[in-house]
Amino acid sequence: MELKDKVIVITGGGRGLGRAMALELAEKGAKLALADLDQEGLDETVGLCMEFGVEARGYIANVSDEDSVVKLFNDVATDFGALHGLVNNAGITRDGLFIKVKDGEVVSKMSLDNWNLVIDVNLTGTFLCGREAAIKMIELGNQGCIINISSISRHGNMGQTNYTATKAGVEAMAVTWAKELARYGIRAASIAPGYIGTEMVMSMKPEALEKIASGIPAKRLGKPQEIANTVAFIMENDYVNGRCIEVDGALRI
Ligand code: NAD
Repeated sequence: MELKDKVIVITGGGRGLGRAMALELAEKGAKLALADLDQEGLDETVGLCMEFGVEARGYIANVSDEDSVVKLFNDVATDFGALHGLVNNAGITRDGLFIKVKDGEVVSKMSLDNWNLVIDVNLTGTFLCGREAAIKMIELGNQGCIINISSISRHGNMGQTNYTATKAGVEAMAVTWAKELARYGIRAASIAPGYIGTEMVMSMKPEALEKIASGIPAKRLGKPQEIANTVAFIMENDYVNGRCIEVDGALRI
């Protein structure tokens, strides 16, 4: 798919990886519809995209809320009259051990609230946005591509029972959609980033970050641009379908 003048929705486009993706696609001439909860971040990303001379709009939307997602895709269809791509990028963490034991006693456990929060945003949000994007692409007569942002943690990671479940789930959903939607000219794929230097990761303790970087064969965190490049690669290559691309400096959890 040639990206020039294509309409792409990016969730969580207000900062971090979403912003880097938006700027990469804007540089290639795509029109951007950015969805986030954070108005300030959205305004900033939209402004930066427009510096490339492309149309860009921000939408306040909560990906875990069905009405909000339906409204988002209706608004995008009205404003742009087309839809060719979606990056399901919005995501959160609420890390904590499954159970914590001290002196033979269970002293804490992952709360149901922290399980549900992460499931709602990362998994249900991806489901809802993927579904509404596919419907709009078909209704508008467009072919397109959906990319789910998974994680290297998807095979399991200490302290991330909730997050890892969602990141395995979004990879599996992309495979299912690739099989179901190919007949409509819609592709789906996923990306599993390793540790990338965004706020989500940089908010970890410096000692933990140092330990992580030293354990990566590349000996550094990834850059948001390296994930943005992968998004553009998948969008532009029509025979990439159903697969997960790992971008992790050779780190395997
Ligand atoms: P980030 O926290 O910097 O940005 C996430 C964005 O999503 C924020 O702008 C936030 O406002 C938005 N968001 C959160 N909840 C939302 C909701 N309910 N509805 C709409 N928007 C919402 O995170 P990031 O590091 O840029 O990560 C982006 C994606 O990449 C996430 O799915 C994350 O799990 C994944 N990922 C990140 C890394 C990494 O190292 N940074 C590694 C693997 C996977």
